[in-house]
Amino acid sequence: MNRVVAGLSALAALAAAGCMTTAPTAPAVKLYALDCGSFDMQNTQMFSPNGEFNGKPGKLSDPCFLIRHPKGDLVWDAGIPFAMATPAGRTSPIMMYRSKTIAEQLEQLGLAPADIEYFSVSHSHYDHIGAANVFAGSTWIVDAAERDLMFRESTRKTTNFGYYAQLETAKTQLIEGGADYDVFGDGSVTLIAAHGHTQGHRVLLVKLPDAGAVVIAGDMWHLADSQRLRTVPANNFSKEETLASMDKVEALVRDNKARLVRQHVPEDIAALPAFPAGLE
Ligand SMILES: [Zn+2]
Repeated sequence: MNRVVAGLSALAALAAAGCMTTAPTAPAVKLYALDCGSFDMQNTQMFSPNGEFNGKPGKLSDPCFLIRHPKGDLVWDAGIPFAMATPAGRTSPIMMYRSKTIAEQLEQLGLAPADIEYFSVSHSHYDHIGAANVFAGSTWIVDAAERDLMFRESTRKTTNFGYYAQLETAKTQLIEGGADYDVFGDGSVTLIAAHGHTQGHRVLLVKLPDAGAVVIAGDMWHLADSQRLRTVPANNFSKEETLASMDKVEALVRDNKARLVRQHVPEDIAALPAFPAGLE
């Protein structure tokens, strides 16, 4: 045995005995839930055409998410537009709250919107695209069917359009044909088609080193009971596609032994580490 090999075996013995710390590894994938607003509804009947929720009040969360990966940062969803938040002192059957910007929350981690390499939304309804223009400098990853919906002539005439109009000229990664999209090429962060709520609605599968798999489910289910009852809101784009996507997302959760995060269900969000802590 030469001296180098002897030295290496001595090091190995030390390491095995727990006398050495291992070399620093690349920063791991980490998931953060950001406060991007909330709802307080007098009546949640809009979430089922069958009457199960008639007259039942409900609170809905409206988070955004940051996924940090050694190869870049992804922001998923952009919350309620500040312009749509219910003014202080006013009451409304649907109270909408939005108090913190994404930028000020990112700042707590030493980040700015300009540092975010990738931006994507579950879908383009107003409560998911409020601050989308802030990320027009990121690479926008989008389902082709959703982008088509967002920039068609009839949609351009809506107030909503203004909240994300700047994405039109963003560097864009289009996902065609309902394919899965592996953001970093290693299977850790995947955008998965779950069409039906809108034309190009998607959910996010994140595989974390310690916490395991997490499925962030967009508006697949608005209320906890929506899942049990398989209710499809009347204003969904397609009931058939929504029901098929419910099956698909539930299978995704099962197959990956994943934690399911229904974005509008406050208990699901409260169960995550409170920002600026994240899930590793
Ligand atoms: Zn929503």
